[in-house]
Amino acid sequence: MRPLPALATLVTTSLAVASAALASFAVAQEVPAHTSVGTAQRGRIAGGGVALPLSGPGFHWRSNRQNREARYGTPALVGALERAAARVAERFEGSDLEIEDLSFERGGRIRGHGSHTSGRDADVGYYAVRADGTRVNPTVSRWFRRNGQARGHPDEAFDVERNWLLLETLLSDEAIDVQYIFMYPAHQRRLLDHAGEAGAAFEAVVRTPRGRNMDPHADHFHVRIHCPAADVAHGCVDGRRAR
Ligand SMILES: [Zn+2]
Repeated sequence: MRPLPALATLVTTSLAVASAALASFAVAQEVPAHTSVGTAQRGRIAGGGVALPLSGPGFHWRSNRQNREARYGTPALVGALERAAARVAERFEGSDLEIEDLSFERGGRIRGHGSHTSGRDADVGYYAVRADGTRVNPTVSRWFRRNGQARGHPDEAFDVERNWLLLETLLSDEAIDVQYIFMYPAHQRRLLDHAGEAGAAFEAVVRTPRGRNMDPHADHFHVRIHCPAADVAHGCVDGRRAR
């Protein structure tokens, strides 16, 4: 018996299979730009995110946690925020939404946030309104009390109409799939009372922040989008369900 040729063939075949597998592995690992990788809490943006401009139609950007340049996200999230702010400004002339922290250009850990690491999270300020109906655009977001009044600005209240229009637009934007909205419970109730049956989509994703270290989200809301479908193959993880 001469086993050697058979062994040689086996070895050659194995090597060929192995190198083919390596080649396809390399192709699979080529991650396109602006890809959300990992979870919202421990992730990054492969190839860098898309920047939200410092200002645009109906919005300005300002960090709510002194994070310079925390205004990057997936293209879908950034686009949806721009579209929603523009729509409110079309309906209510002069509206200027304060959009706050998103993620850093490459994502990763960011001061003052447990998440915001993978380009799928954004903090957004609330619109305010006076008793006489004058719309107010806070340049530093207002903290609204349970009764709807702005702390430190007794003449201002939570603007249900504009805040609802903004949320409704975000929730119906087909480019994104909203996973959660974190919001102070009194604000949730005001919006749900105003929206009636149209509030079902909002009710399904809104969450009350719980736990000692969670921000109550009385002065801004937090929106998180699901992993874009194309990013899942590259390691984007939606993460565990929030309570
Ligand atoms: Zn946040």
